[in-house]
Amino acid sequence: MDGVIIKAYGGFYFVRVGDQVLNCAIRGKIRRQRGQVLVGDRVRIKQINDTDGVVEDILPRSTELVRPPVANVEQSVIIFAINNPEPNPSLLDRFLVQSLASRITPLICFNKNDLVGDTEPDIVKQYKKTGYAVFWVSAKTGSHIDELREVLTDRITVFAGPSGVGKSSLLNALQPGLVLKTGDISTKLKRGKHTTRHVELIPLAGGGLVADTPGFSSMHLPPMLREELAGYFIEFAVYEGQCKFVGCLHHREPGCAVKDAVDRGRISALRYRHYLDFLTEVMEAERRY
Ligand code: GDP
Ligand code: ZN
Repeated sequence: MDGVIIKAYGGFYFVRVGDQVLNCAIRGKIRRQRGQVLVGDRVRIKQINDTDGVVEDILPRSTELVRPPVANVEQSVIIFAINNPEPNPSLLDRFLVQSLASRITPLICFNKNDLVGDTEPDIVKQYKKTGYAVFWVSAKTGSHIDELREVLTDRITVFAGPSGVGKSSLLNALQPGLVLKTGDISTKLKRGKHTTRHVELIPLAGGGLVADTPGFSSMHLPPMLREELAGYFIEFAVYEGQCKFVGCLHHREPGCAVKDAVDRGRISALRYRHYLDFLTEVMEAERRY
């Protein structure tokens, strides 16, 4: 049967198979063949008894995230608070680029909606207009948490965002009833002494898994060519084909349809400004290679 490694500890792997978690050893041959085994790896296992099994094969990875080191992450939830602390759109756009460059689908989540009135603030509307999935929630009141829970079903997700925005609170709000299951694993582990911090995937009720460590904390953009950057601003795509020059960087070129869309208010001026900031950064990094 197949499962997902949700935690590695002391040479053993906790593998989630359906609603069960089995404690698995791995065949030495597999480890030698496949190299590093990661949390998130999908594995073929043989169950030995009620609690134990053996990993017989590691299935190919779709993605491999470095921070945190998790395989097969499909999506990131980029979390900012609408207030306290104020959202930082430049950092949000940076997280979007980092996620897309890692081929991980980004979802945007504005938390603490209880701190403002019923109307959506401009920043929420603005990002909804870009075409990314935007959630507008409160971990405190539970508002719209169901919608977020639904997209986490059956996928491996990493949360990203600065501290204080409510990442831990959201995880707690998302998994009523599951605290017990992860609690079981932790209690088991605490019996042995371990000081090293390992990443762990937290199983959610819908079968989804969320990394317990936030991702995309780096301040630098991933290495890329200048021509790649616009591809990470998804709302530019419909205009790009209309630019006068092939390979237009949407900077100073004449006949640029992206710049024109900014002037006409079709593309957010703030997003475009961040694009130009990032373009400078990418070009400076390119020079250092
Ligand atoms: P993290 O650092 O991103 O994990 O954030 P925490 O989950 O620790 O939350 C930071 C602070 O924000 C705590 O004081 C929480 O009680 C508070 N908080 C989290 N979610 C909400 C929310 O939806 N509404 C309000 N008003 N406060 C929240
Ligand atoms: Zn252009």
